[in-house]
Amino acid sequence: MKTQAILKACGEAGVRLARFFYCDNGGVIRGKTTAMPGLPDRLSDGIGLTVAMMAMNSLDQLQSVEGMGPVGEIRLVPDLDSFIILPYAPYSAALYCDMVTGNRTPWEACPRTFLKRMRERAAARGVHLQAAFEVEFSLAQRQADGSFTPFDETLCFSSIAMAMATQYVDDLTAALEAQDLTVEQYYPELAHGQHEISIRHAEALTAADNQLKLRETLRSVAWQHNLYASLAPKPWPNAAGNGAHIHFSLWDKNNANLFYDAATPDYFSLQGRQFLAGVLAHLPALVALTCPSVNSYRRLQPQSWSSAFAVYGHDNREAALRITSPFWSDVSGSVNLELKAADSSCNPYLALGGLLAAGLDGLERQLDPGNAIAIDPASLSEAERQTLGINRLPTSLDEAIAALEADTLLMEALGPLLARSFIAVRRSEANAYRGQGTDFEVAGHFYKY
Ligand code: GLU
Ligand code: MG
Repeated sequence: MKTQAILKACGEAGVRLARFFYCDNGGVIRGKTTAMPGLPDRLSDGIGLTVAMMAMNSLDQLQSVEGMGPVGEIRLVPDLDSFIILPYAPYSAALYCDMVTGNRTPWEACPRTFLKRMRERAAARGVHLQAAFEVEFSLAQRQADGSFTPFDETLCFSSIAMAMATQYVDDLTAALEAQDLTVEQYYPELAHGQHEISIRHAEALTAADNQLKLRETLRSVAWQHNLYASLAPKPWPNAAGNGAHIHFSLWDKNNANLFYDAATPDYFSLQGRQFLAGVLAHLPALVALTCPSVNSYRRLQPQSWSSAFAVYGHDNREAALRITSPFWSDVSGSVNLELKAADSSCNPYLALGGLLAAGLDGLERQLDPGNAIAIDPASLSEAERQTLGINRLPTSLDEAIAALEADTLLMEALGPLLARSFIAVRRSEANAYRGQGTDFEVAGHFYKY
């Protein structure tokens, strides 16, 4: 969108404030807001932000990171194409921002710029990533004592849950459509109060922006209904977790899906297999970006359809990577992979950038993913898993961070400042929750994403 069109849209809608948003290393969406008189200049100049904010963890504890001290500012410069008037806050607009240095160059620690860099890597091969997040969330009511209880106590895919949530879901869908997000599916999920909504796939940068718009909308519409929408990976320790499964496929310049091959039994191409192999090879490290909170590892347990093992399979709900069965009416356009080891505590720019870097590495090295797994890996003994080369994903944030640090490809892709700050922030969270008990962990994640 052009500046003039944004100003005109704001004028017509009576917008008073525009939110300049970014997503930080802790996966939290933060921002600053400008009033209308300053908007024309700020659309080009951005709004200043101290560099130290990217060293802030999700408990607002500032970490000591070289290059992110108390001195120095960057600018939050909005991507004009991300402009939306917020349907749930009609006198406010929002834009998603890149972090830019005073010299007008991209800041090395900007997650959105990281994804753009990986997008350029893909473009150099003539390809781009299409992606979509399939988001599970828990609708909750807050009790007088401050505790959260599930909005419903119904069954998986239950029509009763649909009936109870009708007004919320109608308003949610309308709010998403008003922001040009195309809703694919909605249904009540397994846990009490748990629901799922999926948004149509888009090019990776738009898909990441869409994930932030979706998170904002889920929470804001719930708030208007006196409800809380929790996007925590495991809001209630004894109930099903909230995934944000990432569906993805690789496309060429002529808009052909490179994961599709009519000549293979599963319609899945050789390039698709190589890309998959790359993601699989880097998965123990990649989960530090896709499942990056302490609470994420309470979700990634065997036999909970969240995935706990670094394997792939056809429609295997216990595999971290699933080759999905295509739509009958659009086989060539719908062959895609689903990464189940992902949740909404991730910064979507980091998650998709990491995914792209890993997959491109698979293409570059022409990796082979080995055999698809057609059983539940948890049904095998440890010895049988070893024989088949089936490895457990990291079981804690500490393990995932260690795997990331050891992954040269992902560390180089992130670059020193982003890698250093991300690891400092996430490691500090692991330390902050260590030994503090489940209640503290749940309270710290329940209403943060
Ligand atoms: N709730 C599951 C998860 O944590 C996913 C259930 C499903 O949609 O298959 O990822
Ligand atoms: Mg689901």
